[in-house]
Amino acid sequence: MEYMYNELLKTSGLSVTQQRLSILNALSNFNQPATIEQLAQTIDIHINTSTIYRSLRVLVDAGIVYQTDFRDGVSYFEFQEDHHHHVVCTSCGKQERIDVCIGTHVPKIEKSTGYTITNHMLEFFGLCKNCS
Ligand SMILES: [Zn+2]
Ligand SMILES: [Zn+2]
Repeated sequence: MEYMYNELLKTSGLSVTQQRLSILNALSNFNQPATIEQLAQTIDIHINTSTIYRSLRVLVDAGIVYQTDFRDGVSYFEFQEDHHHHVVCTSCGKQERIDVCIGTHVPKIEKSTGYTITNHMLEFFGLCKNCS
């Protein structure tokens, strides 16, 4: 795993640091979106939450980490082996991954706005089978 993260950081033009490796490792162990607080509890080296936040920002901007929120006032971060989004139950909070993505629209958006798009977030909200 470490080797894969090394390559990922290098190909994204980022330097390989123990902090970044530890954050990526902790993120992938979660296997679902995690908050900074949750991450801080599982990271194997001591880093304070504001340093974790700064590192995550860099990883998100580089497109390595997916950042999102579920309208509960907290940012979530996920290391995605294969890019995906989520559907979230607004009643019980249950969350499932979905393989729908708007990424194919990016070239069109870039063309019409002149922006260089580096990442996006997309989540769906509703009631799960149990709650509806
Ligand atoms: Zn539910
Ligand atoms: Zn997407």
